Amino acid sequence: MAMDGVFEKLRTLQDILSEKIGLEQDIQEIPKLLVTQEELLARLKKSFIERNQDYEKAKIAENEFQGLLADAESMREKAEKNMDVINTQREYEALDKEIRDSTEKEQQYRKDLQRETRLLGELDEQMKQSTALIEQQEAELAERRAGIEVEISEKKAKIDELAQQEKELTPNLDSEVLFKFERIIRNKMGRGIVAIKGGVCMGCHMILPAQFANAVRQGEEIVFCPYCSRILFYEEAEQGEEEFFDNDDSGSLADLDDMEDDEYDDDEEEEEKVNIDFEE
Ligand SMILES: [Zn+2]
Repeated sequence: MAMDGVFEKLRTLQDILSEKIGLEQDIQEIPKLLVTQEELLARLKKSFIERNQDYEKAKIAENEFQGLLADAESMREKAEKNMDVINTQREYEALDKEIRDSTEKEQQYRKDLQRETRLLGELDEQMKQSTALIEQQEAELAERRAGIEVEISEKKAKIDELAQQEKELTPNLDSEVLFKFERIIRNKMGRGIVAIKGGVCMGCHMILPAQFANAVRQGEEIVFCPYCSRILFYEEAEQGEEEFFDNDDSGSLADLDDMEDDEYDDDEEEEEKVNIDFEE
């Protein structure tokens, strides 16, 4: 039968297309492997920036407390000097209070200063660790990106090779059939050509009308399953399996339309119906 050669080619083509489509999907998926690492790196950089801002603030505060401390020190020193030149008890008391106040302020500013200095030290240490981590992550990421590029280009080379095989195989096949066939394989991740056995499509397990089975068996044209859009080829039913080749025994396409509503599988729903030339 002339169709046998065509089916054989389609099966070979099916293997080629499945592999090609698988590789294309891999190429799309591969960069997603880096997302987690890229997010980690972004978080590290963000927290580095925040620490750096804290550091700048602490630096400003440190400067302010240094200034305040110096002022308090010089006020106390001035008051201490003035102690030598006072004449009255009142002047003494005023100076004494000024010295005590200044000393108190000095102590407070020293504490503030120490706190800021300690904070600056801590932040500096954290930023150093952060920088080291960022550098490490960037290096790892660059290495993985390079690895991925190699992997992708290898897969692309393989795709080109498959496309070449596909080209060699297809010149005698009808272009519309090829277009549908590739689309089915893409949607179904695999099989675009299936047997019809005992009147049942082996792709979607729906019972097809006898006209289909007969047309497939005659093998004069390419017949698509009206449910799953796969190309059908005839296969003898095994013993015990009922044959549905009696036209009186099975429904017409109109009956099929009714059945579709009830029995159509969810995963088949997105398929486009393939129009076929068929005489009822
Ligand atoms: Zn089917």
